[in-house]
Amino acid sequence: MKNQINNSTVTSSDVLRPTNVEVNLDSLKDNFAAIKKFVGVTKVMPILKANAYGHGLVEISKFFEKHNAEYIGVAFLEEAILLRHEGIKTPILVLGGIFGNQIPHFLKYDLTITASSIDKLIQINEAAEKLNTIAKVHLKIDTGLERIGVHYYNAHKFLEVAIKYKNIFIEGIYSHFANSDSGNLTYSKLQLERFYDVLYFFEKHSLPNPVRHISNSGAILQIPEANMDMVRPGILLFGVYPSAKIVKSVTVKPALTWKSRVVYFKVIKPGHPVGYGSTWETDHNIRAVTVPVGYGDGYFRSMSGKANVIIREKKYPVIGTISMDQIVVNIDNDSAYNDDEVILVGGNDKNNLTCEELASWAGTIPYEILTNINTRVPRVYYES
Ligand SMILES: *Cc1c(COP(=O)(O)O)cnc(C)c1O
Repeated sequence: MKNQINNSTVTSSDVLRPTNVEVNLDSLKDNFAAIKKFVGVTKVMPILKANAYGHGLVEISKFFEKHNAEYIGVAFLEEAILLRHEGIKTPILVLGGIFGNQIPHFLKYDLTITASSIDKLIQINEAAEKLNTIAKVHLKIDTGLERIGVHYYNAHKFLEVAIKYKNIFIEGIYSHFANSDSGNLTYSKLQLERFYDVLYFFEKHSLPNPVRHISNSGAILQIPEANMDMVRPGILLFGVYPSAKIVKSVTVKPALTWKSRVVYFKVIKPGHPVGYGSTWETDHNIRAVTVPVGYGDGYFRSMSGKANVIIREKKYPVIGTISMDQIVVNIDNDSAYNDDEVILVGGNDKNNLTCEELASWAGTIPYEILTNINTRVPRVYYES
């Protein structure tokens, strides 16, 4: 039985076009269990930024809270506040850089702050002192990504200063890999070594270790010696591997299916080009169907001329330029009818489309396919 929850404001199936994303919570549960089993005693912090990789931030966060995730990671303060408003009690780490005026909000909502410089520490301590509270902080060390964080070669000073603030609790310390999903792990191992050198500070000063973490999905799969106290999987939880060449040491399956339905049927004759720019023309009479999805939903326009969809268990090419809200599919001599299901991502064991395939058609990575499925596409959740 499908137990469906629809998070759209308009839920009547008479009103909505039939394009939606289905999330299989059983797959998500299995993926989470597989990752937890693989990392053993190490804690797992699901990373749910960018609308939980397109799967729906609120529902997916509730799911992980229900399944006892020890921490949740998001990119921005506004995502974390939304989760608190939705009743999420699980500790939340905001991974992104902070602005000084945001700090009181972190404190008000009991959110964990990423402290990425001495200057930020000063601001955090001042704000916490003013509110007569203790700020929960994870220190960010840059070991080779050059994004945010204190350079590993300046970290000693950073840590010396950090441990002195009265209104800051250093709960954690972390870094981030630049290419842990690569076939060549030389740079990742160098980053890991740099991070370990920084972490030696705590042992040297006989201080308890904060929660140490560095591994994203790629590292979980390929660098088990980097697990430490906690790992931060994102894409792998959703059943997608971060790159094609990666060692698939944990078996996961995609949780997401993207579907629509046939809204129109017609015959197209030679001499009658299809779509904007009239880029595609047939040389014989074909049957074609129109499907109400387009680049306005995140079905990338750059997939024009390459994309396929599944109708009645068979793959068919999308023809002409992908529009904002519609695509045209060539079914040639086959049959399809109004209301027939159209699979854009997903399928069964025999016949399916992966977001890796869509990524290759669009010239991008699976992350971008998932995170670009527009919020105007309703997410539907089901579990057995
Ligand atoms: C996005 C992100 C992750 C998760 O990355 P995946 O490759 O999806 O596992 C982990 N840590 C940080 C800091 C991130 O920004």
